[in-house]
Amino acid sequence: MAAAALVLPALVALPAHGAASGCSVNYTVNEWSGGFTAQIKVTNLGPAVNGWQLAWTYAGDQHITSGWNTTVTQTGAAVRAADAGYNAAIATGGAADFGVQGTWSAADPTPTAFILNGTACTGNGTPPTTPPTTPPTTPPTTPPTTPPPTTPPPSGCSGAVICSDFEDQTGTAPSGQWQPAAPDCSGTGAVAVDTAVAHSGTRSLRVDGHAGYCNHAFVADTQDLSAVGPVMYVRLWVRHTTALPAAHVAFVSMPDSSQGGRALRIGGQNGALQWNRETDDATLPEQSPAGVALSRPLPTGSWQCLRFAVGTTAPSLQTWLGDQDVPGLRVDGVPTADVDRQWLSRTTPPRPTALRLGWESYGTGDDTLWFDDVAVGSSPIGC
Ligand code: CA
Repeated sequence: MAAAALVLPALVALPAHGAASGCSVNYTVNEWSGGFTAQIKVTNLGPAVNGWQLAWTYAGDQHITSGWNTTVTQTGAAVRAADAGYNAAIATGGAADFGVQGTWSAADPTPTAFILNGTACTGNGTPPTTPPTTPPTTPPTTPPTTPPPTTPPPSGCSGAVICSDFEDQTGTAPSGQWQPAAPDCSGTGAVAVDTAVAHSGTRSLRVDGHAGYCNHAFVADTQDLSAVGPVMYVRLWVRHTTALPAAHVAFVSMPDSSQGGRALRIGGQNGALQWNRETDDATLPEQSPAGVALSRPLPTGSWQCLRFAVGTTAPSLQTWLGDQDVPGLRVDGVPTADVDRQWLSRTTPPRPTALRLGWESYGTGDDTLWFDDVAVGSSPIGC
């Protein structure tokens, strides 16, 4: 379609009244805290087209999650909205209407420069002075399931499905709701209740992790998380000793019924935090230098608040280190190169059923870690 769009205008004679510009665009945004929809009308002031692509660049941190009457892709700040097939033809003077929905956190300025099939839209596209207050008549098919919270959620977790500060642990060996879990082989890795280091109170969970897959060590909370959703929120405090290695490691592992019980896990690779899906070994972000740069190292020697929101009915995932949303650890509805393109190759959303904390190294990588103040629930949990 794109190739035809680029060729066809050249085959059509220019209209008698040669338009000074090829197109005009009205971009009408309906914005709320953390999200927006934009109704977009592109008017063709040049030769008729059959197949179109409208491009623009966002100046803010908008991320499109879906569209209607268009096929939209976003790479970084650059957006390309293509026709949806049935609206491919626009006569001279005609228009196509479509829309997008997305999220934003810092800024949502309206784009002002648009390019239709390679031609800048310099026509008089003055937007209406009074934006409509009614929502678009054609709602997006996949609304975002994890809009970034605009105010920090409460840090307490009473009422959450898991809310553990480990203060109820009486011995050295994890007990009660925390049970050793080391499937497959098990080697020299160890997990114990520690009274020397704690984020809260006097107790935490200490993991002595060692290189090599068979040295993995985990404890699992006994709570069944199958009903937590549609977005599963996890908050944990973690402290570790050795910077994340170049090799792949994991320190949170969640059995995932959508993968037949195999794991959805977060750990690191190439020195930065990384999500990994066991069945197809997909990573988030993609492990290109640009992808890794969009993630974050996990600082050593201090307690870090790590939170994530896992969509269980749509493929969405968001991760915060402290108060910061980590862009390389975010899945939205649109495949983005270097970030979630590989991840979205599987469209079935995850369904985590349990939470396991520990250490697993698939190559090199020793680390000593502590976990404390762990919470899982169906609503956002703050640090
Ligand atoms: Ca504690």
